[in-house]
Amino acid sequence: MRLHHNQSSYDRFLWTTLQYKPGLLPTTHHNPLCHTRSEGMNHPGHPDVLLSDCKVGAGLPESGGQNLPTTRSGTKLKYLYYCPMKFTQPILPYAPDALSPVISPMTIDYHYGKHEKAYIDNLNRLIEDTPYEDMPLERIIIESDGVLFNNASQAWNHIFYFFQFQPQGQKAPGGKLMEQIEKQFGSFEELQKKMEEAGAGVFGSGWVWLANNVNGELEIIKASNAENPLTRGLNPILVFDVWEHAYYLDYQNRRPEYLKKLWDIVDWSVIESRYPF
Ligand code: MN
Repeated sequence: MRLHHNQSSYDRFLWTTLQYKPGLLPTTHHNPLCHTRSEGMNHPGHPDVLLSDCKVGAGLPESGGQNLPTTRSGTKLKYLYYCPMKFTQPILPYAPDALSPVISPMTIDYHYGKHEKAYIDNLNRLIEDTPYEDMPLERIIIESDGVLFNNASQAWNHIFYFFQFQPQGQKAPGGKLMEQIEKQFGSFEELQKKMEEAGAGVFGSGWVWLANNVNGELEIIKASNAENPLTRGLNPILVFDVWEHAYYLDYQNRRPEYLKKLWDIVDWSVIESRYPF
């Protein structure tokens, strides 16, 4: 298991490339939940910079490009982004009312502000002083079970969910992903229908995922509770939350209506970036 950080991709988010065991899927995740222990460690993209000299979020637009450290060889860094010892909840890339009426600001407040925050807080508490403390989140998900798995996976799943939306995003897939959708499902509309059916068919709380295998073939996965396709060696690219807390304030028991509306806010440029072909 090796964790790579690709400095060229450090613009708005931290890109984490996780290389699985030989023979399994190498995958790139566009997931800004990141985890790096700071004490005595060098920055993964800049081996001559101590993480303890870096500031959280340095170089991001919010910081005005301030707080960038200088490397020991005297180079002023352009971008630097690291997370401290604990996982931190990233700020959403849109305003709380931006997804309305598909997802209301009140649902964002409860779902992102309280449910997702609680998963991250629990995760941080559970890994403290354990061997999981230094692991990337994807590895914790793959190696843990029980209450730690539930909180780690839910922390990851929600970031993946919320960061795939934009009110003015790309409305349909293109490129290699669209080719694969047409090959397997016949049309984008048919994929949408199958995803909606799968989401409506999840019994109780869970998720409906679109993921790819090592050959790029797509699978729709009905998942219970915190289940994540990473544990099956698959690469997730799209997910719909079908826990009641995701839709009840806005749609009450009308889960199929919620699923249908979500297509209006999915940004397919994000989904394409998660499809590594
Ligand atoms: Mn949720």
